[in-house]
Amino acid sequence: MPRLDDAQLESLVSRAWEARLNAYAPYSQFHVGAALLTADGRVFTGANVENASLGLSMCAERVAIGAAAAAGARSVVAIAVAGVDDNGVFPCGGCRQVLSEFSPSMLILRCRPDGTYSITSLEQLLSSPFTGESVEKGKKTQSESIPAGVS
Ligand SMILES: [Zn+2]
Repeated sequence: MPRLDDAQLESLVSRAWEARLNAYAPYSQFHVGAALLTADGRVFTGANVENASLGLSMCAERVAIGAAAAAGARSVVAIAVAGVDDNGVFPCGGCRQVLSEFSPSMLILRCRPDGTYSITSLEQLLSSPFTGESVEKGKKTQSESIPAGVS
């Protein structure tokens, strides 16, 4: 699990709350901000972006990881997620899977409205992600074949 000092953690928490101010959430009114730290020391932020076609809405975590990936980042050390929930906001299942692509062991900081935060690892929240290894194994099997033992 990556180790960050208190100043790094608090900076990420602060950036996540700042990012939350730009959330576009006219439908749910649930504003979320995220700030992530890449292995090369850069910080990228995101906010949730909703759409009238609700299924097209984007979570703050995915907006942040998209910005990081588009800037060439491929490894994330930690992500802070800020939303108004006394327990802190957990990344949704879809975001956990997307985040795992860029470092299964990254730290997740759940920011609470009182300014405190809790730290968990992504591995704790998503112990068995779907990985590129499964994709590679699938390529080796002919798509037309039915596995032995399946009737
Ligand atoms: Zn999500």
